[in-house]
Amino acid sequence: MSVSLAAMLFEILPVLFMAMLSALIWNYFFIPPIFTFHIDNAEDALMFLLYFLVASVNAVLNFKIREEEKKARDKEEKDKAIKLYNTLLSSLSHELRTPIAAIVGAVDTLKDDPNKLSSGNKTDLLNEIETAAMRLNRQVENLLNMSRLETGMLTPKKDWCDVNELINLCIHKLEDKKNHTISFKPNENLPLFKIDSGLIEQVLLNLIYNGINYTPNGSTIQITAAQDHANLIIEISDDGKGIAVSERELIFDKFYRIPHSKTGGSGLGLSIVKGFVEAHGGRVWIEDSNNDGAKFICSIPTEISHTIDLKNEQE
Ligand code: ADP
Repeated sequence: MSVSLAAMLFEILPVLFMAMLSALIWNYFFIPPIFTFHIDNAEDALMFLLYFLVASVNAVLNFKIREEEKKARDKEEKDKAIKLYNTLLSSLSHELRTPIAAIVGAVDTLKDDPNKLSSGNKTDLLNEIETAAMRLNRQVENLLNMSRLETGMLTPKKDWCDVNELINLCIHKLEDKKNHTISFKPNENLPLFKIDSGLIEQVLLNLIYNGINYTPNGSTIQITAAQDHANLIIEISDDGKGIAVSERELIFDKFYRIPHSKTGGSGLGLSIVKGFVEAHGGRVWIEDSNNDGAKFICSIPTEISHTIDLKNEQE
């Protein structure tokens, strides 16, 4: 039994050593004459030898089983990594290529015959380049964020943040919003929150962008920020077609996209949202919005400070 147990924990040599030791101990205590290593008759000698052989075979077999299990585990992990890599490549190659093709095409047109183009056409092409570059930027940003999450080395660097200002900054940063209304009324009573504003900015950009991307032109995306005890609550809702209850957990998975979703997109955005909110110890979930669309709610536990307190601290 001790040899079998040792085979589960140690390498082969110590285990063989243990097999030998247990045979010797058996000899010393039980084979007459006892309390000596001497063996008198041939039958006992054979028994001793057999004992040692059985213990060694037991050691080797146990060790082999352990090795096979390790191999199977390694293979499983490798297969998982390959699958992840393939999914990443197939979803991103399209997402990266499309904007690059758009930029190259627009630049070619601009360079080929600049005099033929009206100033309106030129502006259109420049806008196209800007949109494509922003799209590219968003994908690269999401990729980098995902690798930060995957390595498990994400610790939020928290500092005092004016969330009203942060939301306004995000709205300002988003392209493509010309055909949508983004409604945000800064909450005058909002205190300062101690959060990693870089991470929460990525959360907001992804959620607002989705609101724009998955709703028809003319839709409204509504943003609110509030304090609930020691939690920052941010709600982002739209008046699109909403998200079925059965999909509400799944869409936070990496690479998951609702079947027949609008093309473009890698399925990474919401997994990053979830990862970053959870890195703050918070939670993100979906509810029905008042006007049939989707409503994403982030609840983030944080330290809170009113400006007045901060002023006192500085003094
Ligand atoms: P991506 O947008 O790149 O596909 P996300 O992780 O951001 O990846 O979103 C996952 C899926 O969730 C999207 O494919 C889309 O189908 C759905 N989704 C996200 N936000 C909304 C929304 N506001 N309204 C409807 N569907 C949404």
